[in-house]
Amino acid sequence: MLNTPLRLLILGAHPDDAEYHAGGLATIYRQRGHTVKMISVTDGRSGHHRYQPAELARVRRRESQAAAAVIGATYEVWEYPDGALQPTLEVREQIIRAIRSFQPDLVLTHRPNDYHPDHRAVGQAVQDASYMITVPLVAPDVPALTRDPVVAYMPDLFTRPYAFVPDVAIDIADQMDTIVDMLACHQSQVFEFLPFNQRVAEQVPQEEAARRQWLRTWYGNIIRPRADRFRDALVRQYGELHGRQVAWAEAFEISEYAAPLDDATRERLFWFL
Ligand SMILES: [Zn+2]
Repeated sequence: MLNTPLRLLILGAHPDDAEYHAGGLATIYRQRGHTVKMISVTDGRSGHHRYQPAELARVRRRESQAAAAVIGATYEVWEYPDGALQPTLEVREQIIRAIRSFQPDLVLTHRPNDYHPDHRAVGQAVQDASYMITVPLVAPDVPALTRDPVVAYMPDLFTRPYAFVPDVAIDIADQMDTIVDMLACHQSQVFEFLPFNQRVAEQVPQEEAARRQWLRTWYGNIIRPRADRFRDALVRQYGELHGRQVAWAEAFEISEYAAPLDDATRERLFWFL
């Protein structure tokens, strides 16, 4: 069944972006024994209303390790300051080295247009790295790859210059509990900063099981509109009957800057569809 395990690399801007946007796919990969690595390019030091930045960065590093442990993935948190990321040559070269050394089959990242400047910077840096990973004299300390992996973008809501295209859409109902378990590890975010930021802090229950249920509803409500936006793709993927009923979905847009998703590659990377 399992030949060579696939390698999935998720490059997000913050500690939690990978789980938030692609926790379902990461879970599916791990369930089948494939290898998953998540990277947060920034240290997450800015997302809180009480911690000091250095302390928050330490907290979020711990939270990320716990989230990765839920599915048996690895999580790397880099040290660029949260909220101040730019798609510099330094960031690009670090991404080139990370992709070369991990040798992923599939890379997921943000689109270069997205609400958060750090997300845009990571998306841009990955786009800029995509071809360069095959060029040996760029970052020559890590051997170049002979071919690009498939690079795909995680969804955002922006329509200019063009709206996100769901090239692959996945029903994640079976993975929801695991995604929520991973998100719950990011306690400083999902139970503290995000409810504070969204002025719903008083709604968060104190007791653990109730809190987990609250998180499931909160996250479910946030991502529910996604399934409607991807409805046509879900119907193409699953047929009329099932496709119309999918409540929670993840979708990915294939980047033109890296390997194309031909039929054989689609079959290999998304065997479960
Ligand atoms: Zn983020």
